[in-house]
Amino acid sequence: QKALITGVTSYIGAHIAQKLLQQGWSVRGTVRNQAKARWLHDTFKAGSRFETVEAVDIQKKDSFAEAVKGVDVVFHVASPFFFDIKDPYEDLIHPAINGTTALLAAVHENAPSVKRVVVTSSYAANMKPHPENPNYVYTEEEWNDDAFEQVKKEGKNVPGIIAYIASKNEAERAAWRFVEQNKPKFELAVINPVYVFGPAIHHVAKAEELNTSVALVYAFLNGSKPSLAPKGPHTNYVDVRDVAEAHIKAATLPEAAGQRFILSGGPFSDNLIAAAIKKAYPQFADRLPKEGWNEKEVAKTEIDNSKSRKVLGIDYISLDKSIADTVESIKQFVQ
Ligand code: NDP
Repeated sequence: QKALITGVTSYIGAHIAQKLLQQGWSVRGTVRNQAKARWLHDTFKAGSRFETVEAVDIQKKDSFAEAVKGVDVVFHVASPFFFDIKDPYEDLIHPAINGTTALLAAVHENAPSVKRVVVTSSYAANMKPHPENPNYVYTEEEWNDDAFEQVKKEGKNVPGIIAYIASKNEAERAAWRFVEQNKPKFELAVINPVYVFGPAIHHVAKAEELNTSVALVYAFLNGSKPSLAPKGPHTNYVDVRDVAEAHIKAATLPEAAGQRFILSGGPFSDNLIAAAIKKAYPQFADRLPKEGWNEKEVAKTEIDNSKSRKVLGIDYISLDKSIADTVESIKQFVQ
């Protein structure tokens, strides 16, 4: 069995590749940076079972025309994930939407061998605000169209995080629309992860290059976070190894076709992350924020994760383990 992963050099893409290789698959990955690609070749040591091909402009279907040929399944992971933007459309929304439709069109037109495409969306595409009900529990039925409306209203002044949320919701909408309109031979499945923590195995040359979700944990160790805040809405975690496993199950289980799956191991908060770091790495205790500790804080569950457990069989890694393993993989950056 052979898989294509777009954005294989990403935090999540590298884990999907590693797990597929461990399970005996051959893996082709698209990359835009050769140093990051070389790092993965050196990490995996999988010989001819792992290859990388260049796809610099993910918004053009020609970039994927050769890459998709002869593979059985495709994972579309590549999409910009950062909040420091100049233009919401150029930086985030266009690459997310056009990247998704370009990839799907390339598969549709060039790759009859592909049985399933799994798109990495995000819980951002589910978390429609419900201010009227603080106890609202989210499921896969939910869509978050509000963020894009805000982008349309505020243009370049929109906060980067809102533009990112819109980019994920609109890209996932575009994927389902593509399938509905083109009736391709392949089936679609979508993964909607919450904040992803766990070990970074992809190429990271310096702390500033850490991907957005792991950087959130790093902020507890580098002194940039003055105090711990109480749990806010939509702070839920999932471990990157569970995310990789869920992608593979979504690509291979017949009952996953045509479905979207929220992945959440449960809620997290500043207090719970700090407590997990203190427990696993007492030597870092004095680096943690000094203010705002509340050992008694109970984080509220906001998400029903039963679909991913039932259909994909995910048995979620705990927050404590996920945070401890995140720190293990980035502790070389702590000065
Ligand atoms: P990364 O920043 O590590 O991954 C982003 C990937 O997309 C990288 O491979 C990057 O390439 C590629 N990419 C981004 N923009 C472009 C572009 N314009 N052209 C070509 N390639 C591009 O973060 P993650 O691994 O966390 O993100 C992977 C996916 O998971 C994304 O779709 C993200 O939205 C989604 N996701 C992540 C969550 C998280 O908490 N981490 C939660 C929910 C969803 P390069 O490697 O060259 O930089």
